[in-house]
Amino acid sequence: MEVIRGRFAPSPTGEIHLGNVWTALLAWLQVRSAGGNMVLRVEDLDADRSRPAYIAGMMADMKWLGLDWDEGPDVGGHYAPYSQNERREMYQAALEKLTAAGLVYPCYCTRAELAASAPHAGEQERVYAGVCRQRQFAESRPAGRPPALRLAVPAGETSFTDLHAGAICQNISQEVGDFVIRRSDGIHAYQLAVVVDDAAMQITRVLRGHDLLSSTPRQLLLYHLLDWEAPVFTHVPLLVDEAGHRLSKRQQALSIAALRAQGIKAEDIIGYLAWKAGLIDTCQAVKASELIDGFALDKLPSGQVVIESALFCKY
Ligand code: GLU
Repeated sequence: MEVIRGRFAPSPTGEIHLGNVWTALLAWLQVRSAGGNMVLRVEDLDADRSRPAYIAGMMADMKWLGLDWDEGPDVGGHYAPYSQNERREMYQAALEKLTAAGLVYPCYCTRAELAASAPHAGEQERVYAGVCRQRQFAESRPAGRPPALRLAVPAGETSFTDLHAGAICQNISQEVGDFVIRRSDGIHAYQLAVVVDDAAMQITRVLRGHDLLSSTPRQLLLYHLLDWEAPVFTHVPLLVDEAGHRLSKRQQALSIAALRAQGIKAEDIIGYLAWKAGLIDTCQAVKASELIDGFALDKLPSGQVVIESALFCKY
């Protein structure tokens, strides 16, 4: 029988807020309702933006909310280490495997050159036109500037079925282009690191925010090229404020620490999110563990979820 394994994969770049808890709660329920194992992995590859204090705060907030894990940086586990910062050798090994297959090339494009390329459909990212792939490396290599490394994306479509978003199909070479797998500062890119980690940690279920849906075809391509089995993906709707903006770590008022300081209880936060997720019919205080039995992904709303400024239920 398949052992279900899911994960929380927070980046410790700020205090966790309601939006992080929304995805964490749903990922936790997906795993716990299937009797599976939960992994906590800290995605702290970007040392400039990550702060150790946020890791401790995040773990304290999650425990306070009743969201636990079986493996993680604090408790260890079979697939340790659980911080990306300590897993760089594994990313490098995967990179070397792709390089040996002739799928990686250095890119010396400047920011200005990249900015001139076509924007990615509906997003901030740009389609990389493959300038350095055609340059064939050597000739115009600028002295002293280290290159980024890009994956030479094969032509064709990548498709998969998302457990919430349904059938997804993307032509990566046309819609994204050859993407970066190691940045020019030597840091392995999220797309590569997340695949290496989810594969090495034997993750079978990835549940995360809809903002990462467009990354999944790239990740599936990497699974395919590395000859690894991919998990089943679920991308859940994002929480937005009344103006339609995504909740972000900049909205300090919605950090769990700030809500807690106002005297709001863990059960109020979980109950509010469960009600927004369609898991309970009325807004009421509830423990995360009380939601396990009735959990089903098809109860989730299909569009974005609006968080009112007058938060939480009046009892
Ligand atoms: N570390 C990412 C974030 O905090 C999540 C990555 C993932 O779930 O794949 O947004």
